[in-house]
This record gives sequence, C-alpha cells and structure tokens, in this order.
Amino acid sequence: MARKNTKQQKEFVFLPLGGIGEIGMNLYLYGFGPARKRRWLMVDLGVTFAGPGEPGIDVILPDIRFIEEQRGNLEGIILTHAHEDHFGAVISLWPRLRVPLYATPFAAALLRAKLIEQGLEGDIPIEEIPTRAKLDIGPFHVELVDMAHSIPESNGLLIQTELGSAFHTSDWKLDTTPVAGAATDEKRLRKIGKQGVDALICDSTNAMRDGLSPSEADVAKTLGELIANAPHRVAVTAFASNVARLRSAMDAAVAANRHIVIVGRAMKRVVQVAEETGYLPSGYDILSEDDYGHLPRETVMALCTGSQGEGRAALARIASDNHPRVSFSRGDMVLFSSRTIPGNEKAVGNLQNKLVDLGVDVVTDRDALIHVSGHPRRGELEKLYSWLKPDILVPMHGEACHLEAQADLARSFGVKSVVTPRNGSLVRLCPGPAEIIGEVQSGRVYMDGRLPVVAGDGPVEDRRRLSLAGAVAVSVVLTSKGDIVAEPQITMIGIPAATANGILFADVIVQAIHGALDGIPRPRRRDSAMVAEAVRRAVRAQVNAHWGKKPPCSVMVTVV
Ligand SMILES: [Zn+2]
Ligand SMILES: [Zn+2]
Repeated sequence: MARKNTKQQKEFVFLPLGGIGEIGMNLYLYGFGPARKRRWLMVDLGVTFAGPGEPGIDVILPDIRFIEEQRGNLEGIILTHAHEDHFGAVISLWPRLRVPLYATPFAAALLRAKLIEQGLEGDIPIEEIPTRAKLDIGPFHVELVDMAHSIPESNGLLIQTELGSAFHTSDWKLDTTPVAGAATDEKRLRKIGKQGVDALICDSTNAMRDGLSPSEADVAKTLGELIANAPHRVAVTAFASNVARLRSAMDAAVAANRHIVIVGRAMKRVVQVAEETGYLPSGYDILSEDDYGHLPRETVMALCTGSQGEGRAALARIASDNHPRVSFSRGDMVLFSSRTIPGNEKAVGNLQNKLVDLGVDVVTDRDALIHVSGHPRRGELEKLYSWLKPDILVPMHGEACHLEAQADLARSFGVKSVVTPRNGSLVRLCPGPAEIIGEVQSGRVYMDGRLPVVAGDGPVEDRRRLSLAGAVAVSVVLTSKGDIVAEPQITMIGIPAATANGILFADVIVQAIHGALDGIPRPRRRDSAMVAEAVRRAVRAQVNAHWGKKPPCSVMVTVV
C-alpha cells in the first residue's frame, strides 16, 4: 500500500532535456502532479550548432520524444528570450507539439520575422505576453522577472505550484546600465526571496569567473573611443541579436559623424525588430550596402554579421573579397565585439588572419573592453543567492565544469541542497528531499539538410570516417564456376595515389582482391556475401600495411 501512496503523491519536478552539460540546446520541463498524471510546462526550445566533428550538420536539436509522447499533458511552452540556444528549435519542433507558445514582444517579433523569411507566416500561433506578466498555465503560476542579458527581454521565471516554487533564472547578469532592455529587477528578486522560494535553477556559464561582470555601458564607452579615433573605415562585428551592442556601435558612429551601413541579413532583421519594439530609437540614418562603396573611407561604420567566422556570413565574405558591395582595405579597422564560442576558434582565427593579410587592423576583446558576457560571474551568483535564499540549487546552462563550479559555490554559500542533474535526469524538487528520482529519454537530433537524424545513427559518423581515411569501392564479377571475369573495378576517394615505394594503390588493391579470392575454394565462391567480406578485409589490411590507415571499403560481388 505504501508504494501505491508514493505513486499517487503529487510532486513538483524538474526535468532538463537539453542545456545541462552543454551550453546550448536549452529545453527544460517543470512537472506537477502524481507520477502517472504529471502536467508539464516547457521552458525554452533551443538549438545548438554543430562542430567540426559533425560534418554536414549546421544545427542540432534536442530529442523531444519523451515529451512528444505525452504532449496531451504538456500545458504550454514559454520562451525566456530570443537567443538561438533558447528559441531556435521552435520552428522545427513546435509542429510536433502544437501547444500554446508564450513569448514576450521582442522574442515574438523575432520569431515572426523568422517565420516570414522562411515563408511560414502564421504557421505558429504565438501568445504574446508582456514582460513582468503573471499567468496561469495549467497548475503552474508563472511570473516573469526582468533579467539583464545580452539581448533585450531575458525573463527569469518564478514558477509556483501548490507544493512549492522554483525560480528559473534563464540567462542573466547584473547590469544597472544595460544600454538596451531592462536591468535585473533586484527589488522584485529580493521580495520573492522574502516570500520564500524553494529552488533556484540557475545559469552556470561564468561560474568559474570571479567578481562581477563589467557593464554594457563600459563597452559602449570603449567602442565610442575606438570608433572616434579610427583613421579610415571601421567595421564592428557582434552577435546580431545583441541589440545593446548594435546601439552602442551606432551611437558611436553618430558621435563620430560616420554613416551606418548594416551588412548581413540577420542583423538587418534584428535592427528592424528592435526599432519596432522600441529597443532602438528609430532615428538612425542607416544607409544601404549599395552606398558603401561611394562613401569616403573616414565617414563609414559598417555593422557586420559573422563574428564566429561563419563562412557564409558577411565578414567572411568581405575578408575573402567575395562580397558584391562591401570591401576593406589597408588601414581599415575591424572590431570583434563578441566572444568566440568554443569550437569556433579555428574559423575565427582564420578570418582574423585573412583580415590582417588585407592590412586591416583587427581589434578583439583581448585588446580592449569591447565585449562583455551576458552571464553572471561568481560575485553576481552570490548576490542572487543572497536575495532569493533558496533551499535548493540546481545548476543549469553550462558544461560539466561550469555546473560543478556553481554547485561548489552554492554549497560554500550555505545552500542546503544542491542537485546536479544532467539532460534526462528527473529531479524531484518537493515534497521531501530534492533528488534525482529517474531518467528519461534525451539526446540530440542532427538537422541533416532537410532531414532530422538522431545522433549516433549512422550517416554523420560515416561522413566523419570518410573525412579521415577516404573510401574504396570495389566491384568483382565472377562466373558461376567462381572464375573472375576481367579485372575488378576500383573507385578510390581520398586515397593517396601511390605507396612510399611508388606502387599504385590501385595495384595494391587489385592484388589484395586476387589474394582474397585465391584463399577461397571455387565452389564456395558462389556465396557472394562471404566473398565480399573476404575481399573487404583483404583490401583494408593491404591498404593499411602501406598507408597506416584503414579506409572504409564497400565490395560488390556479381555472379554471372
Ligand atoms: Zn543561453
Ligand atoms: Zn541567452
């Protein structure tokens, strides 16, 4: 009987399906009710970007099969802010869930703009809610709290249920002068702490950095000085969605009597949305890319996409002299007002080298305070703990070392219970001690062209192997008596032409095929699968003996 009672007991649970153990692909679920009849609230539905180990893949989505199966129990999705790692999977995955989607005006407008660009206008109904909204979504009472971040309208969520409450920080920092968007609402947070909050689910990105983040206003000042003193053209590259940064750069341009030219679609989209939603004043005199070439060099400031070295973005095309209307020349200055996302170091390095080769003066955040993170350092985390005084802390939005750093910090700060789940861990927040009580299906899905492919399922791994050792394809035709008909056909992709001794690899492979056949008595050669496997092994072994690499090899055996 006791067991039955636990199953029927209502619980308030937290279940990350993405975003813990990584920076990206945020997808968190809050659940309420007895185990068999939980109602769910989804917080964010983001993507992550593929690295060099995932050839051919741009975007990675969370595996949502767990919640898709129970979408009848999913009350809604609430988006905390409009960064791709929080809302980038909505267009791909919402159609599989079809539940109410809540977003504040800036995220809603950016999502609508993306839908329009993709020809999907009106396909996803968005319930636009004001910042600081209070709303009931099923058994969850949700209140939005302003948090400063590197995009307008990052919303912390106070999620209350009849059993207990959680504060989900989303991405945040402390900044009393954030340039665009609201400052973190310290007053409200202190009040929430006074009323009491059970669990704090908190951003860990910068939990390994001491002290407090500089303000966006400090960055604005440095940008102003650099842009005012630049001898020729200046270009600023930043994350397109960093409205405060765009504003700082544009204000600096105005102060330095420079024309503003925006290069890159994503940035044009953000500027338009920011003007519509009031995060940028509408008075900026923005010229088109067509004007760029006609402007005297000392009178222009270009805002460019491509701070991460993305090959198709504006800056990479300009650096390769591949842009139809915009070019740089000796003495121009490019300000990298951004952080290089781990994994992009090589692409960014290549891009910066190309610019230096053009004679461009490249300035990064190592040279001057032209970038600050949108995430809290340890000093900021401690302030938030002191305002909210949570009993439970769950670190999120970080790789293992960031999560652990925040866990340690919270313990040393005196937070009673620190739980460190990973994606797929079901955490009971209350009642009873907070702990992991189960695991559910979670994982990654690659967007491979137009097709979703579950990570680990073949094609991407095959492609990675091909990139390391090329491939060999062999066709062998045998008579029914087992004699070989003509010479085998061989195709090699990415294989060196000859061995160190000058023997052609094609000959090495032909010899390996004959050797394999010689080892099989004629009557048994009718088993074409067995022959194919013997040939495959022999080819790989012989190529390996000369090359030190074993390429994948496919063998076709035809018996005529
Ligand atoms: Zn994020
Ligand atoms: Zn963010």
